[in-house]
Amino acid sequence: MKPYKEIRLRPGKEASLQRFHPWVFSGAIAHKPEDMIEGETVRVLSADGTFLGVGHFQIGSIAVRIMSFVDEPIDGAFYERRLSNAYKMRSTLNLVRPDNTIFRLVHGEGDYLPGLIVDIYGNTAVVQAHSVGIHKDLEFVTNALKCILPADAVKHIFYKSEGTLPYKAGIFLENSYLSGGKDVDEIAMENGLQFRIDWLKGQKTGFFVDQRENRALLEYYAGDRHVLNMFCYTGGFSVYALRGGAASVVSVDSSAKAVSITDQNVALNFGDDPRHSSCPEDAFKFLKQLPDEEKDLIILDPPAFAKHRGAINNALQGYKKLNLHALEKIATGGLLFTFSCSQVISAEQFRLAVFSAAAISGRKVRILHQLTQPADHPINIYHPEGEYLKGLVLQVE
Ligand code: SAH
Repeated sequence: MKPYKEIRLRPGKEASLQRFHPWVFSGAIAHKPEDMIEGETVRVLSADGTFLGVGHFQIGSIAVRIMSFVDEPIDGAFYERRLSNAYKMRSTLNLVRPDNTIFRLVHGEGDYLPGLIVDIYGNTAVVQAHSVGIHKDLEFVTNALKCILPADAVKHIFYKSEGTLPYKAGIFLENSYLSGGKDVDEIAMENGLQFRIDWLKGQKTGFFVDQRENRALLEYYAGDRHVLNMFCYTGGFSVYALRGGAASVVSVDSSAKAVSITDQNVALNFGDDPRHSSCPEDAFKFLKQLPDEEKDLIILDPPAFAKHRGAINNALQGYKKLNLHALEKIATGGLLFTFSCSQVISAEQFRLAVFSAAAISGRKVRILHQLTQPADHPINIYHPEGEYLKGLVLQVE
């Protein structure tokens, strides 16, 4: 194998890598070879030539994603070690159980594999590349997956990177099965509840695995309540609320397809349950026409309002407006589960937006829980950018 090409940093720019932050910004680079190809594996050196890390080169403001701080090849054996550790960790967390076949196996930087997401749904693994380097290493990844998981655990591998690779990289691909693909079972289980997972056409890898622990908390509080699940997607929170003994559950999403899968997921678990109804509608419109005091448990789990820093102010206004609508309508003694999954918005900023909504509504509001992403979405402590999901459970009087 040819030795990796080398990138040299400007003086003083080595500090963040020495603290194990896995990104090299383009402005930190003093010298790189002319013929470097996007996605290529490179060695990163400090100005004085000291080895700092080996990673994937990419065109853009994040120029290198460090895969290892050890001077080692990024090859099949490397991915096997990383994926094996990730799987062991999920087993330790007791997420690999007959009644729980949905979990995130690889969470990018949180599993020391920047750019790679792998979600497991029953015996299907959905692989998603967010960098060209991971796309180029795909065969290593799929071989490692087959190698480290117990025999027959994964029969199908679906690659879903059509919308996640940088479009400037000029890679045109269609989401497709890399292995298996016949007689696929799209039903998987989370905490004993069944869900149909739409990895072919659905959002992200097909399901919002990151809300598992927050759904379990919701189930705990749902008994006898009138629940409104806004931005329901495929009904994760709704199904938990029904199992928790909710008096009624209304699921709302602007996507008619999502609402239809929600109905299917409710039926899968509870048959024709008269407690559940659904509505394909815009969340803001729905909340406006909602009678006061009708719902005493409302979930707000919108898509990321800010996808980049430039959108933060508008996004905060959006969170404020949405939470204000819910706070104006929720019944006295009600619980509001409110979330933001915008990575660029901090927990503090989100809380301030909700605070502003509470102040305008004039209601008494207490924070009962502060929520985040679950343990299979770990945050590398040296990469605080990995913290993206925040939630508050509010009690409203
Ligand atoms: N709570 C869900 C995930 C929500 S994802 C779960 O646990 O699975 C966000 C959802 O918001 C998507 O399904 C998207 O279709 C929906 N959405 C986006 N904009 C919307 C709007 N203005 N009104 C209603 N739903 C919207």
